[in-house]
Parts: sequence; C-alpha cells; structure tokens
Amino acid sequence: MIVHSWVVLNVERAVNQDCIFCKIIAGEIPSAKIYDHGGVYAFLDIAPVNKGHALVVPKKHYATLFDLPPDLGRELTTALQVVGRAVMDATGAAGLNLGMNNFEAAGQLVHHAHFHLIPRHAGDGLTLWTQHAYGSVEEMQKLTQAIRSAVG
Ligand code: 5GP
Ligand code: ZN
Repeated sequence: MIVHSWVVLNVERAVNQDCIFCKIIAGEIPSAKIYDHGGVYAFLDIAPVNKGHALVVPKKHYATLFDLPPDLGRELTTALQVVGRAVMDATGAAGLNLGMNNFEAAGQLVHHAHFHLIPRHAGDGLTLWTQHAYGSVEEMQKLTQAIRSAVG
C-alpha cells in the first residue's frame, strides 16, 4: 500500500516523501544533475530514449501539468530552452523532442510532473506516436465544439 505523506520543509518547498524525484532533488538519491536554478532542476534520464535524454522538473512536488502554478511558466520555459540547447550542443543532435506524460494512461510512471527533452538525430528511427484519420469532417467538427465548450 502506498501512503502519501506530505511534509512542508519550509515555505519554499513541498516534498512528497514517497517520490523518487523529490528524493533526487533533495540529494538523497544521486542524479546526473545538469541544471539547478530557482525552482527548476534538470538531470539525465537513467534510461534514455537517445543518449542525453534529460528530465526538467519543478523542485516542488506537483503531480501533473494541471497542478503546476502558471507563475512557474517563465522559469520552466527558460530551463527548457537552456537545457534543450545544451543537450543538442553536447550530443550533436539535429533536433529535439519535448514531451510530457500526464496520468498513467499516458505513460506517466513518476507522479512528479516532468518534461522529457530527447535529442534527435536524422534517421534515428524513433517513432513517438502513430497518427490516424477522423472518421468524418463532422466528427472532427463535433469534437472541436466540445473542446471549445470545455475551454469556456
Ligand atoms: P514518465 O514515464 O513518468 O514520463 O517518465 C519517468 C522517467 O523517469 C523515465 O523515463 C525513467 O527512465 C526515469 N527515471 C525513473 N527513475 C529514475 C531515477 O531514479 N533516476 C533517473 N535519472 N531517472 C529515472
Ligand atoms: Zn516529487
């Protein structure tokens, strides 16, 4: 049974004691750290899709995209740009994928929100997802309306 215990260490940092990324950020578990500024931390993924695959994470524990405070957006964008560029330079990559899995149905294994930066090389053969067609134009229009209504 997983018991989620929350501790507020100080006003700056909320930690989930069961979270592996919280432990990495706290230095309790070693990581290949590549960035540590303000509220954002980045390190190499232990099982890279391509070598240099990095994870950019908020230092505070938030579970998914939907829990992130919009105020963090500026720091996160800066970190994604700085780390993304550095990963490309250091690996000689010609491209970079930015990805985020939210909830288990989307493949989220670690429930501490994080962004994947994956360096890409021409012809590396990686396929991130397959695409399909809508059944009809009407189906697509109906879904457009449903999503617009949900946006509010
Ligand atoms: P998710 O599937 O949740 O989007 O991705 C979690 C990622 O965290 C995976 O790509 C996995 O390889 C990585 N990961 C899991 N545990 C550790 C760890 O202890 N250290 C590092 N560096 N990466 C980890
Ligand atoms: Zn955490």
